[in-house]
Amino acid sequence: MTKTAVPNGLPSRPAFQAMPAVAMVLVVMLLGVLLWLLHRSDVEEERLTLIKDILWVEQNIHFHLTSDEEKLAQLAADLGRRSLSLELFENAGHALIANNPEIQRLTLRGDDGVLSVAVPPVQGEPSGFVPGEQAPWWPAFQLARSTGRVSWSQAYANANNGMVFEAMVPVYQDHDLVAVLSAEISVDSMLTHHVPWWVAEKYKIEVIDQGGTVLGAKTGVQLTEPGASHQVRLEPPGQGLSVVATIYASEGKLVRNVLAAAIFILALLALSSLGLVRRHLRRRLAAELALSQEHAFRKAMEDSLTVGMRARDLDGRVTYVNPAFCHMVGWQADELVGRVPPMPYWVPELLEDTLRMHHKVLAGNAPRDGFEIQFRRQNGETFWALVYEAPLIDAQGQHTGWMASVVDITERKAAEEMAHQQQEKLQRTSRLITMGEMASTLAHELNQPLSAIASYATGCLNRLGADNFTPEELRPPLSKLVTQAQRAGQIIRRVHDFVRKSEPRLQVCSLRQVLADALSFVDPDARKHGVAVVLDKQVSEALVDGDHVMLEQVVLNLTRNGVEAMSGLPPRSRRLEVTLSAEGDSARVTIRDHGPGIAPEVRENLFQPFFTTKAEGMGMGLNICRSIIEFHRGRLWFEPHPDGGSVFIFSLPLRSAA
Ligand code: ADP
Repeated sequence: MTKTAVPNGLPSRPAFQAMPAVAMVLVVMLLGVLLWLLHRSDVEEERLTLIKDILWVEQNIHFHLTSDEEKLAQLAADLGRRSLSLELFENAGHALIANNPEIQRLTLRGDDGVLSVAVPPVQGEPSGFVPGEQAPWWPAFQLARSTGRVSWSQAYANANNGMVFEAMVPVYQDHDLVAVLSAEISVDSMLTHHVPWWVAEKYKIEVIDQGGTVLGAKTGVQLTEPGASHQVRLEPPGQGLSVVATIYASEGKLVRNVLAAAIFILALLALSSLGLVRRHLRRRLAAELALSQEHAFRKAMEDSLTVGMRARDLDGRVTYVNPAFCHMVGWQADELVGRVPPMPYWVPELLEDTLRMHHKVLAGNAPRDGFEIQFRRQNGETFWALVYEAPLIDAQGQHTGWMASVVDITERKAAEEMAHQQQEKLQRTSRLITMGEMASTLAHELNQPLSAIASYATGCLNRLGADNFTPEELRPPLSKLVTQAQRAGQIIRRVHDFVRKSEPRLQVCSLRQVLADALSFVDPDARKHGVAVVLDKQVSEALVDGDHVMLEQVVLNLTRNGVEAMSGLPPRSRRLEVTLSAEGDSARVTIRDHGPGIAPEVRENLFQPFFTTKAEGMGMGLNICRSIIEFHRGRLWFEPHPDGGSVFIFSLPLRSAA
């Protein structure tokens, strides 16, 4: 009853039980797809923004360089007009550098490339290269000189190891090339001043040359993880330069990852809690099933009880009755539950007594060993019940009422009454037996002293009548008469003593021995009457619970009656047959004589006390015999023999069957 394993009787798991799990998995999948789509759209948007931003950066730089180019062209024109005025060059140069921080230096070179003057001034060649083929700016210089237009050099590392590129503008005076104005633009400065901070916060902006070498870069923070990048050419006005923007690992990605992880963890938690809930549910179901089985078992027990059960609350109201109780009183449970005294099954005539006992029970003073009470069935019949009352304690240990077990003891009472009556009958029988024995003993034993007394008294009377006596002559017969009278008294005392001791004693008793002993007593009598007694033992032994002497008395009586009944027959026919046999659980003794039998009118009174057809008979013999046999739970009866004569039979329960 206390097993925790899921019993076999659990209802099979229907498909809908799996639905929460399926729904959960679908939700997780949906969220995953949603996240992926979001991610894709984010990436796309990021890419578009990147392109937009890098184009904007390129435009911005382009705008500044173009503006530089125009300003340089203007200065070159002014210098041409003012015959390369040094003052103009220095003043305009300083102003140009101050307003355009990406320009590091302005130089004026002769048409052979040799440096004439520089702002700010410098010792030696600022580019670190002598004019000529080796100088990285030489092609641009030549191009400017030959085309008469602004030309841009490739980028190179100058004397200070800074990455620069130059804008070369030819200076004409009266259509003659007199010099070449050059502006040295620093890549780093260009990036620093023309890439705004908010772009640098989002991207790493680099300027690369044709070979992909990074010439300068601007970043807001350190790159954690390289993201998407986009490259835009910076030409014109730069030469062979490109701007590259690379996205930082965005925070959005981190948030998205955290979100995805959170969704995944939440889904896992939801699934595991779903599993837990299901396990809990299964355990609960199993417990409920076990409980209902337990309940059914207890109900079956209650229903199959033969003892009536009745519960009452503290006010005496019936709260429960079991079927046995209903069966006992004849009312249905719903007719009894909720009733308060007086109950329908109380006997109206005993209302006061019953109510008194009811209050005694409610006060907790019911007899511990139960009490007997009379109740009434619905059909009006009363019956005796044995009731045990006990306090009803609930699961919290609270005393909530009284529980009674009620047993119908009517049959037991009847059996007790019968046993009581039997006992009384037995005592009566015993007294009767004693009386009969006493009477017959007295009759036999007193006969002799009384006849002696009578004859002595007659002798004395004769002497007195003859008138020839002396007192001395009368003394001996009179003293003998006294002696006889005393003897009669002794006999009576002895009989009295015998009677007091003659309580029946039941013990293992051999019927074979009873017959042997009884027949040995009857033998002299039989011989006197010329009767042959034949004993036929069909069983070697028959043991019964009985009083040997009393059973002997029965056999003695029956055989004496038989012997006496055959006294008038011719000697050949005087035959008494005694048989010991067994039939089923009983031993049987049959005593058959060949006498005249018993007339039908005599048969009716045969076992009545004091019924006799004999002049000297007591008429107690057969009555006592039947009482003795019935006392031994046996039966004694008479049967006429078809060939004449009487058959007396008694049967007794065999010991093993008792
Ligand atoms: P009693 O022998 O003193 O008369 P019993 O009770 O023994 O008393 O017998 C009652 C009567 O039953 C006897 O008087 C007799 O008439 C009749 N009776 C008993 N046994 C026999 C028998 N074997 N054959 C014929 N009559 C019998």
